[in-house]
Amino acid sequence: MSSSQGFELRPTTTPTDAGQRDEILSNPGFGRYFTDHMAHVRWTHAEGWNAGEVRPYGPLSLDPAASVLHYAQEIFEGVKAYRHADGSVWTFRPEKNAARFQASARRLALPELDAETFIGSLKALVSQDVDWVPTPASEAEESSLYLRPFMIASEKFLGVRPSKEVDYYVIASPAAAYFKGGVKPVSIWLSSNYNRAAPGGTGFAKCGGNYAASLAAQKEAETHGCDQVAFLDAVESKWVEELGGMNLFFVFKDGRIVTPALTGTILEGVTRDSVLQLAADAGLKPEERGISIEEWREGVHSGEITEVFACGTAAVITPIGELVSDNDRLSCSDGSGGEVGKSIRKQLLDIQYGRVEDRHGWLTRLA
Ligand SMILES: *Cc1c(COP(=O)(O)O)cnc(C)c1O
Repeated sequence: MSSSQGFELRPTTTPTDAGQRDEILSNPGFGRYFTDHMAHVRWTHAEGWNAGEVRPYGPLSLDPAASVLHYAQEIFEGVKAYRHADGSVWTFRPEKNAARFQASARRLALPELDAETFIGSLKALVSQDVDWVPTPASEAEESSLYLRPFMIASEKFLGVRPSKEVDYYVIASPAAAYFKGGVKPVSIWLSSNYNRAAPGGTGFAKCGGNYAASLAAQKEAETHGCDQVAFLDAVESKWVEELGGMNLFFVFKDGRIVTPALTGTILEGVTRDSVLQLAADAGLKPEERGISIEEWREGVHSGEITEVFACGTAAVITPIGELVSDNDRLSCSDGSGGEVGKSIRKQLLDIQYGRVEDRHGWLTRLA
């Protein structure tokens, strides 16, 4: 039996044929198609982490009493693999995702996976399914292989305590550019009925439960004609936190660029951290601090705030066009989005796709 990165390889006997794969890769959308394999590592309380494997992609066999199905003991990550012009495949700052996965595991009382196994699982899966990594035809194409590591509590037990059996998987899904036909500003609903996170809660952890709890707010946004939701802090309903799955930035006329500080209720985005660095490199003045909803409104009205954007791995940088609430519509940028966000977005993509020097050492080769 062969192995890769310590992962035993059990290849599928029924791979997708090349013609069908090419058809999928020509229009993958997001999160709809999956590659031929998945990585898997099992943990038990008695044995710790077992040896990993790369095995055929397919349904899991899970006992109906598995605790994840009842108490949502689950965490996940989102990482992309980018094909460079020479055919090699790279990922972006995976050690940050590994560290965040460990922090999420601690909060959800799941076992921590070491960074070497986490990154090894990405390498083993992407090496096996490397033909599924799209080759962008142009700079505008922004296609990639989206990797989704996740960990679930799989013990058959309805008592409420940390599961003694846990499974870690990585699945992979080819992804087109988030914005078809160019970046478009999104409209944001300001939620007053719902909060995403509270002090002492799970806001900093990347767990499915946070997303489940955000869906009612997302539905509310859609009934108001908005694309996404912005959440305020749960204590004072005053401080801007983030969107359901993206961090927020505010660009000021005088060169300051502000993002809410990490207070435990905000997800520590890898993109957020990278934007802070690239903004500093560009001579802007990054600030991590509280920003109130009044400061957002007044800053846009006075012209002090010239751009607002959201950022995350999936959509990179998304300009915010409009902030909508019960009795107010605030236009935050013109139709094209702002220049600062656009420029940082290009720099980030140029690094990720290997078009400029990786001066911060952010890339890791996967295949
Ligand atoms: C994943 C996520 C982000 C973005 O994080 P990246 O590491 O930049 O992809 C932001 N907010 C929430 C709530 C998230 O789950």
